[in-house]
This record gives sequence, C-alpha cells and structure tokens, in this order.
Amino acid sequence: MKRSDSSAQPEGNNPVHHNEAPDGKEMICIACPIGCRLLVRGNSDGDVLVTGNKCARGREYGEEEYRAPRRMVTCTCRTNSDLFPRLPVRSVAAVPKELIDDLLHDLYDLTIELPVRRGDLVLKNFRNSGVDVVATMTLRNRGV
Ligand code: SF4
Repeated sequence: MKRSDSSAQPEGNNPVHHNEAPDGKEMICIACPIGCRLLVRGNSDGDVLVTGNKCARGREYGEEEYRAPRRMVTCTCRTNSDLFPRLPVRSVAAVPKELIDDLLHDLYDLTIELPVRRGDLVLKNFRNSGVDVVATMTLRNRGV
C-alpha cells in the first residue's frame, strides 16, 4: 500500500501557507468584495512581498497595510443645537491608524455651531497629517 508523505509541500499556485512565514502578516483584502486572503512579508532590504492577491489592487492594499495602515474615519460631533445634537463627519482621506484615537478624541471635543453645510470643514490638517475632516450633512437650526 502506498502511503502519503505528510512532509511533502503542496504544489501549484497556493500562496497562503499559514506555517511558512511566522514573520508574515495574514490579512483579508478589503479593496473589493471578493476578499482575497493575503500573506504579506517584508525582507531586510525593505521590500514587501504580497501573495494571495488576484489583482494589482490587492498588492497595493497589502503593501500599504504592511508599511503604514490607514483608515477612513467617520463619527459624529456635538453641535450647539438641541434639535440636531450630533453632526455626522468624515475624514477626506485615509488616516494613519496610529492617529485615529487622537483624531476621534479631538473630534469628540468639538462643539459645532449650526448651521453647517455638507462639505464644510470641521477640522483642518489634523496634526499636520494633511487630513481634513468635513461635515457629511447639511444641518440648520430649524429643519435639515
Ligand atoms: S486582491 Fe483584487 S480581487 Fe482580491 S479582494 Fe483584493 S481587490 Fe479584490
């Protein structure tokens, strides 16, 4: 009887091997709904290798997540209105992950005076990151 060799490595293009790269990061690509499983590894030369992606967007996503992950930020800010006490806002660009807690802290400290139009600047160039935060809704003191 022929026995299988459990030490044999699988062949073919199956780039995500959980035990092969203890220094690598596994992640799900969120650049489209397919959600490919990526394995991202860096080397001592500063190069980043992404496998498991089905397209170039996945490679870009994996590289950015590995080097400097960023996220869009949405939340609400307090207003001076009893009628509309919260104003929804969002960052105009993705924010470095390590700055998100500080950004939310600053946004929760604000009190926005109505009226506000959608797209109005709420916070400019947060801590010199180049990221602005804008209102995503028009709110007047009476009615939307
Ligand atoms: S790698 Fe490409 S196909 Fe796969 S989830 Fe990312 S964007 Fe979609």
